[in-house]
Amino acid sequence: GSDESVTVCELIRDIAELYKNRMEMQNIKFSLRAEDESACILGNREQLEQVFINLIQNALEAMENGGNIEVVTSRKNEKVVIEVRDDGKGISPEAEKKIFSPFFTTKKNGTGLGLFLSKKIVEDHRGRIYFQSTEGKGTVFFLEFPVQNGED
Ligand code: ADP
Ligand code: MG
Repeated sequence: GSDESVTVCELIRDIAELYKNRMEMQNIKFSLRAEDESACILGNREQLEQVFINLIQNALEAMENGGNIEVVTSRKNEKVVIEVRDDGKGISPEAEKKIFSPFFTTKKNGTGLGLFLSKKIVEDHRGRIYFQSTEGKGTVFFLEFPVQNGED
């Protein structure tokens, strides 16, 4: 047991802080819109951080000429839903089928492991990860986790 109660908004702000300088240099605007500031999920903080590091990193790499990253968190029944939106180059229909496969990358120096590992971590937390993307317009990654209620 290294499970703890992780406040989603705090986690996301910490990751955004890590990338603050790079975002400024790359002319990227970051925003977080939270429906419920105190929404928590139960899990391993380091692993959950790694998921958001991977998603933010991918968003930055998809927006070499600047853009916006918007994270939106909401509650749907017993789930916390987190959307990570970018208006970068998007994912081609051919690539869409493969992005969660180990070693699939479209980058010169990519490992192709970020999303593979992220999916594993999300599923280890009884969550789901999926996405919608339009080439030339942007990408949204959706994550859903069981919400942790205050009482338990
Ligand atoms: P890597 O970043 O090392 O390539 P990932 O597993 O993180 O590996 O991502 C796999 C591939 O999915 C990327 O190479 C890229 O083609 C695509 N991808 C992931 N996230 C995004 C995004 N936000 N925008 C555009 N393409 C993306
Ligand atoms: Mg990556």
